[in-house]
Amino acid sequence: MAQASKNSRTSSTTQKFFCPAPCGGEIKMKTVFENGKVKNLAECEKCKRLERRPSDFK
Ligand SMILES: [Zn+2]
Repeated sequence: MAQASKNSRTSSTTQKFFCPAPCGGEIKMKTVFENGKVKNLAECEKCKRLERRPSDFK
């Protein structure tokens, strides 16, 4: 039996996310500076909606 579940972590960089309908645009990660800190934000490249993480697009 192959160990399928052991290496399947929540992949942050390889997984693709898409904006919910009716937009359907691809969500890209972007790095922004805010108050001297680096933040990663998720942005829909179609409607420019910004969320803190791709899973916040619902
Ligand atoms: Zn969108």
